[in-house]
Amino acid sequence: MEKSFLTMRYYETYYYANIVHNVLSDPFPYIRHVHNWYEDREQMFLTPFPKWSVLHDFAEYSIRLLIDEQDGSSAVDRLAANAKADLWIDRAMRHHAMNPEGFRRWASGQGIKPADVSEDDISSYYEELNLTGQVSELIEHLAKEVFYVLFNNRGLLANLNDLVAGVVRDLDPLDCDHEISTSLEGTGRLKRVAIPRWVQRTVLYRDKGLCASCSADIRGLMNSQPDAHYDHIVPLAQHGINDVTNIQLLCSACNLRKGRQPLPPSDRYLTWY
Ligand SMILES: [Zn+2]
Repeated sequence: MEKSFLTMRYYETYYYANIVHNVLSDPFPYIRHVHNWYEDREQMFLTPFPKWSVLHDFAEYSIRLLIDEQDGSSAVDRLAANAKADLWIDRAMRHHAMNPEGFRRWASGQGIKPADVSEDDISSYYEELNLTGQVSELIEHLAKEVFYVLFNNRGLLANLNDLVAGVVRDLDPLDCDHEISTSLEGTGRLKRVAIPRWVQRTVLYRDKGLCASCSADIRGLMNSQPDAHYDHIVPLAQHGINDVTNIQLLCSACNLRKGRQPLPPSDRYLTWY
């Protein structure tokens, strides 16, 4: 299989990762934002193991919101104060080698004098970039970088999947489209499906072949009976979903233990050295 690579450019990646982390640690102050995200996403939550995971999607949504809500009036002031200043979106796109036309050149092409630049002009320029699909392309890439940074954090994955489980819990199978409702048991819980090979490999490597609860080494490298269980962090019985972000590696003892009581993901990680 062809190897898949992501070019990490780290343009404010940690800034966005931190915001996603903060929102998921305590969603309540951001509840309107969070609600707008999960509205109409039933289809995604119920689709088994999409490659574009719920974390990709939540990061993409959050980044889009932050970029769309950038303050145009302070940008006008900055452009007026400094002839070399440019817009955030141009800097970000240049950093990502996307070669935008650049606001100043666009504005002069429109016959707008530098002294007359208004917030509306900036909005029009941004709208044009939006229409060409370049903004979406940038945001999708930023979301992939944020996913790359955050996917190792099982506590964050548990928070996200708790949030999603709360939405799935409120779904009424009788109210859903036929296509959606086939993913649900009569109880409104998601059906168990086979965990795809790519999910198993991803989780095995993310968790370094160690049980995510007791850190027992379960790689199975040196014996023919590996003791790996691919466990739903938020169980299907508690309305968890089939998503790569909701799977962790457990040994059979912890897996059994979890059957009887909730088992929060461990915050212990193997150090690099
Ligand atoms: Zn264990």
